[in-house]
Amino acid sequence: METKKRIYIGLLSASLAFAVVIIGLVWYLTSNRDIIISQILLLVIMTLAAVIFIILGAGITAIVVMIIRSRDMPSLENIAQLASETLFPLTLFMGKIFGIKKEKILRSYIEVNNYLVRSKQLLFPGNRIMILLPHCLQNSECPFKITMDINNCKECGKCKIGELKKFAEENQAIIKVATGGTLARKFIKEYRPNGVIAIACERDLSSGIQDIGVLPVIGVLNSRPNGPCINTDVDVDLVKEAFYTMCKGG
Ligand code: SF4
Repeated sequence: METKKRIYIGLLSASLAFAVVIIGLVWYLTSNRDIIISQILLLVIMTLAAVIFIILGAGITAIVVMIIRSRDMPSLENIAQLASETLFPLTLFMGKIFGIKKEKILRSYIEVNNYLVRSKQLLFPGNRIMILLPHCLQNSECPFKITMDINNCKECGKCKIGELKKFAEENQAIIKVATGGTLARKFIKEYRPNGVIAIACERDLSSGIQDIGVLPVIGVLNSRPNGPCINTDVDVDLVKEAFYTMCKGG
């Protein structure tokens, strides 16, 4: 397993272990005090907690097994997603304890997500795939309003929007420029794509992947040579490669 994926899987497991220790402690403290709540109620709570941990543990195992086998296992897909989403905040917390940068964890999370999406070997027609671009990819001096309609882009070559627009046209893909999560969600609701190729920074991609839920999303990280949110850049070949992974004709 690559280091990038190992970080996220490791933190997921550590988060679960941490939660188990906390529950064990609560159990110990409760049973060694004058019992306030009845033993039956305590048993019910602990049984519920045990069931939750077993499900989450099974979810983490499912993710690891899918990565090791390099294959999707549809029967375990839901449980894997549930574990990943539920324990996501805890992984960030654990990362903080272990001194791992948040950006590194988010990158690892995106890497695991992309791997799981790719392993599903989904093949959609080009016109059912949406390429979602961040507004900061547009050259800041460009006078054209492309968030309303990307066709306003004149493909002048000053930023990657033109090249991506051309690629989308050639492959009949849906392409949209979003100023944020709200607009991105609106586009997805409106066009109902089968799959999404999203370009953004670590933070926006990871929250977007979680927001979108069951829809398969391949995240492509942008680069920020001029600092965050202005004149960002992206490797167009990575976007093309992600598209062909999902596209029937690719
Ligand atoms: S490629 Fe399009 S969006 Fe980018 S600067 Fe040129 S006209 Fe504007």
